[in-house]
Amino acid sequence: MVEASKLWFEKACSASECHNLIHPWTYKCTDATSSMLISCIKGSYKFYAMVYVLQILMRGKKLGKKEIIEQFKLYLKSGIFGLTVGSSFVTLNCIFRKLFFSEFSYYTTVLLPCTVSGLAVYFEPPHRRVLVVNLFVNLVFEYWVRTLEMKGWLRRSPRKETLIFMLGSAVFFYLMRRDRESGKQTPLFWFFTPPRVSKETGQPVGGVEGRSPACPHRGPCLNYILKGTLKLFGVGCAMTMLRAVIPKILTPMKALKSLRLAHLRLGIFFGGYIGIYRLVVCALCRAYGRDSASYALPAGLLAGAAFRAAPSTPIALAPITSSLQILASWAYQREMLPANLPLVEILYCLCQGLLFHARVMHEDACPRYIINLMHTVTSSKADQIQGAFIEKMLKSL
Ligand SMILES: [Zn+2]
Ligand SMILES: [Zn+2]
Repeated sequence: MVEASKLWFEKACSASECHNLIHPWTYKCTDATSSMLISCIKGSYKFYAMVYVLQILMRGKKLGKKEIIEQFKLYLKSGIFGLTVGSSFVTLNCIFRKLFFSEFSYYTTVLLPCTVSGLAVYFEPPHRRVLVVNLFVNLVFEYWVRTLEMKGWLRRSPRKETLIFMLGSAVFFYLMRRDRESGKQTPLFWFFTPPRVSKETGQPVGGVEGRSPACPHRGPCLNYILKGTLKLFGVGCAMTMLRAVIPKILTPMKALKSLRLAHLRLGIFFGGYIGIYRLVVCALCRAYGRDSASYALPAGLLAGAAFRAAPSTPIALAPITSSLQILASWAYQREMLPANLPLVEILYCLCQGLLFHARVMHEDACPRYIINLMHTVTSSKADQIQGAFIEKMLKSL
């Protein structure tokens, strides 16, 4: 893999024609635009089909007819967002090169056009924009962590990441419970949303039977804990199965045979996460006879230990990102940030520019998710562009 510095990039590529660097599969810029568009229509709708199936799975609820139509409309809009971002990269580069810059430079080749094309996020409805920004900010954090690791300033390990996830989860669950008290709820996408803090109080309860009057749920505590554990365990396993089976959809038996015990890891993480969380909150409610948002701190911390079953850098950082998101939305509500500032959209553009720039220039430090995303959405055109670029870089050595 090639780590492109500014100097090296400009020496190798600045004098290139755009058909050598940006659209190596065809000479003419207009052909490049139309072929890129077709690839991105296919790729974007394929990508979002997977995203929407996963989201519906994670909600774990059956959809009514109305909701299916609603989800389908959202799917169409998300597809337009994806294909606009994907296909505009080539076109913007051809235009920029002809109009403003006579050559390719380090910052204007990927960073600039991909920051501009981030404006396509306006195709998404506002509540989805918030979720997309959350994801991309998290990826930027991952990119920074990977960059620091490559520079030798820190080392990632499953143990350290578990600790970060535990601390992050403690803060995040606490903020989520406080956020639910404030009435105006921040849109978040997480494994589960902790219930509102219960106002009921009662006498402490011993043993394991029944429930405390303060418990934020109905029915016996044991049922509540087990139901959550099993459901999330199922979701985790279903996600692993889909990931294993979809690429081998034509040979399903072979795919099923390849499933191992290791495929249960995600299920153990998801199930353990919700199970431990509920267990701790229930135990505290029963012991004190009242509920409090602060129970989320020990509950989140201990629940986070389940992450050890399936560690990954982006998930380790996710609670921190989502905590920041809640704090930012509180700042908006308390008018500490001007209401007409399109912070979400600006942040999205900046993150997208930076991450796509990283994809081309610093492939080793780039999060895997971005590499897969660009591969899928552009139907592998992104890899062709990357290939041509690396060839140029290596030739100039
Ligand atoms: Zn061109
Ligand atoms: Zn309970």
